[in-house]
Amino acid sequence: MPTCRNCGKEWSWKQSFKKMFTLDTAMECPYCDRKQYLTTKARKRNSLLPFLAPLIMLLSILFDIPPSITLGMLLVTFLFIMGFSPLLMELSNEEEPLW
Ligand SMILES: [Zn+2]
Repeated sequence: MPTCRNCGKEWSWKQSFKKMFTLDTAMECPYCDRKQYLTTKARKRNSLLPFLAPLIMLLSILFDIPPSITLGMLLVTFLFIMGFSPLLMELSNEEEPLW
């Protein structure tokens, strides 16, 4: 779970999950209201997750997996990503450059 770099309190899964959907790069800490940003490392990791979907589709073509199963796999992967994203979050007090 992500820990606030300002007050050191750990965000709950639910709090982190809600913060993921803010369009702004800054996420306010629910405890101290200081703005927190995702670290470059965490952002890069998150940007790789959407590539899992085309990978599954490619596998289903290669191994001739029926579309209904492929759809099920995509759904499971989607839920998996949603569930695990908050766990992979890492916070920083400042917005780090991407590269
Ligand atoms: Zn805080």
